[in-house]
Amino acid sequence: MLEFIKIQNYLSEYQPNKNTPQAQKMFDKGEFMVSWFINDNCNFSCNYCGHYNRKPVSPKYDIQHIAQSFDVFGDCGHIIITGGEPFLYPGFIDLCKLLTEKHYLSINTNLSQASIKDFAEQISHERIIMINAGVHYDYRIDNKIGMDNFIKLYKILSNKNFNVVGSYVIHPAKILQGIKNIQFLKQLGLTNISAKTYYGTYDGKNYPSAYTQMEIDLISSYMLQGLDMPEYLKYTCFKNKFCLTGKDFFSIEHTGEVLRCNTDKQSYGNLFEKTFIPSKTAEKCTQSTCICPYQGMVYSYK
Ligand code: SF4
Ligand code: SF4
Repeated sequence: MLEFIKIQNYLSEYQPNKNTPQAQKMFDKGEFMVSWFINDNCNFSCNYCGHYNRKPVSPKYDIQHIAQSFDVFGDCGHIIITGGEPFLYPGFIDLCKLLTEKHYLSINTNLSQASIKDFAEQISHERIIMINAGVHYDYRIDNKIGMDNFIKLYKILSNKNFNVVGSYVIHPAKILQGIKNIQFLKQLGLTNISAKTYYGTYDGKNYPSAYTQMEIDLISSYMLQGLDMPEYLKYTCFKNKFCLTGKDFFSIEHTGEVLRCNTDKQSYGNLFEKTFIPSKTAEKCTQSTCICPYQGMVYSYK
């Protein structure tokens, strides 16, 4: 029961070429995990991301309808909420209250909204598996936003016992500076800051594969287990293995469209319009790269 809340342990124990998926040990009957891109707008415009839409969103459905929609997956699940910036979603804290009556959440955020203080007061930390807070150090400095607000909100969550982890993308042009900044934040009491590799092109090279082994070793030594594990660089292709995504795991768009995973865009209908029909059997992975390797590590098998 509730083994899935220890997802970090299961990811660190992952071994390829097993005949059974990690998911088999993690989930009992009625338990599930899904990823949900709640919105596609953001108040930041980081150059390694496409979520620059700043227009306010008016969701088509009320929060009660949305929260109930997740019951189709099972009685109790881990809903990983990402965006855009989830705290810009209208009524987000009330939606979290409804979802956490039955389920557990992880939230990816840039930790910039004042409403995070209300979230820390109104939502139980016991129902939040992880708050993954993007540091976006250079964006904050270049745009004169500064780090003070991030530090303050991190500490508010941490003091309320939330598992908050700052995620720091180490750009290939600023590796040593990035490591220095992580050390600086740790000295300020932000103990959980994890280095993350850059995905994209820089100086005509594709990253993360273009990092040297020495650079990877350095960055890996600042990664926190379970968030940006060195294993995520090692296990990036599960092609032709069976994968339970499409049957037991899904990636949901802000429109409610249900996709197989964050990489494979095969559609299974719309969650909010109640046209969602999952696959009955596991199918082989067809993708050359699994862009969110934790999904392949949990759901794939030989
Ligand atoms: S804060 Fe996150 S979602 Fe927003 S632009 Fe930056 S990377 Fe994208
Ligand atoms: S890309 Fe990853 S999560 Fe998607 S089907 Fe392949 S192994 Fe599974």
